[in-house]
Amino acid sequence: TSNVTTARDNAPMLPKVKNIIAIASGKGGVGKSTTSSNLAVALAKSGAKVGLIDADISGPSIPTMFNVEGEQPAVRQLDGKNVIEPIEQYGVKLMSIGFLTPADAAVVWRGPMASSALKQFIRDVNWGELDYLLIDLPPGTSDIHLTMVQTVPVTGAVIVTTPQKVALADATKGLSMFKQPQINVPVLGVVENMAYFTPEELPNNKYYLFGKEGGQRLAEKFGVPFLGEIPIVQSIRESGDTGYPAVLKSGITQEAFSLLAENVAR
Ligand code: ADP
Repeated sequence: TSNVTTARDNAPMLPKVKNIIAIASGKGGVGKSTTSSNLAVALAKSGAKVGLIDADISGPSIPTMFNVEGEQPAVRQLDGKNVIEPIEQYGVKLMSIGFLTPADAAVVWRGPMASSALKQFIRDVNWGELDYLLIDLPPGTSDIHLTMVQTVPVTGAVIVTTPQKVALADATKGLSMFKQPQINVPVLGVVENMAYFTPEELPNNKYYLFGKEGGQRLAEKFGVPFLGEIPIVQSIRESGDTGYPAVLKSGITQEAFSLLAENVAR
């Protein structure tokens, strides 16, 4: 009956998910998806139940970063409803528009289509019980952000930026957006990616290619925590391309992402 439909529509979204964390950036290419994927795997490694939604509709990179390109999520019946089973990899449940479109297809989505895709990922995917559901947002500010806050109770947002001036300017806008009344999501803090470079042959040297401590300053300006810095490391880029997140290997990048996960979980 129509009553049943209403009850279902009004049911709280994702009641079995403890924390919903949005990963945002002002600019593209600053390492938002790299951070999302490594953070998700780091949280899962620490024993948490973790899901990751790739809401970067126009450039979904999560399937590549998890080496699950071309996978097709199964659809099945659960409690009289069709549900989509997330793809699981490295202990993380994944959903991406990339699973639903051919790999090379240019996805030109109108705002409302992208928003309904995100809603579907939230409503129709069988997430089960999760400690963390991460949402990798598109860069900048968009309809998707609004849809997200209107659809689920977001616990907090993590802002990813590089220390570069142009990235920081955009990150400032992104951060302000979460503070606006119609969004109103607590900012958990700022991550500075590509913070510095250390050549192998000069292990004690740090080169601040994109400027120094811009992420820290941004965090201070808004009175939000600084969650950590991730260096520029060739293996981070390679890990992204080969679909084996850097945090699964030992070394400096594992430490950096594990520390980030601890700070986010705090
Ligand atoms: P965004 O999601 O912000 O668009 P990505 O996570 O896709 O950015 O990263 C852009 C590119 O930079 C990718 O090729 C990725 O592998 C690389 N990259 C990101 N962070 C680092 C890092 N700390 N060191 C080296 N390469 C990185």
